Amino acid sequence: MKESMILNMEIKKIADVLELPKLKEAYNNNYKTLREYHISIYQEFYELIKETEYIEYDNIKRKDIQWYPKIDYEKCVNCNECVNFCPKGVYVQNNNSVVVKYPYNCVINCTGCVSHACKYGAISFPEKISKSNQ
Ligand code: SF4
Ligand code: SF4
Repeated sequence: MKESMILNMEIKKIADVLELPKLKEAYNNNYKTLREYHISIYQEFYELIKETEYIEYDNIKRKDIQWYPKIDYEKCVNCNECVNFCPKGVYVQNNNSVVVKYPYNCVINCTGCVSHACKYGAISFPEKISKSNQ
C-alpha cells in the first residue's frame, strides 16, 4: 500500500513535468482508488483501532483518548469538504448530514480538516494532547 502511494506520487511528478494529460488522468484515477481503499480499511477495522494502545500516550487505548472533531451544526452548510479531505474516513455523509462516524480514526493532534477543508468554522477540537514523555 505504502509503495503504491509512493509510486503514484512519482507518476504525478512525471506527469506534471512532462505535461502529459493521460498520465495525469492515470494519477487522478489511481489516487482516487488508493484513497478509497485506504479509507475503507480504516473504517472496516475501526473496532480494532479503538482498542489499539498508544505507547507514546502511556499505553492508553485510542478509545480513551478524547481527540476527535466536533461539528457545530449551526455553522455547518453540509458542503462535504471534510468528508472529501480526511484520509482516515472520520467523516461520513449520512441522511443529508455530515457526521463524525469514526471519531477514533482521527490522527491525534491533527487539525487538517480545520485548516484545509472547512471554510465555515464548523469544526473544532479540544486542547492538543501531550505525549507521556513530553
Ligand atoms: S484532524 Fe485530520 S485525521 Fe482528524 S478528522 Fe480532520 S483530517 Fe481527519
Ligand atoms: S467542511 Fe465544515 S461546513 Fe462542510 S460539511 Fe464539513 S463541517 Fe460542515
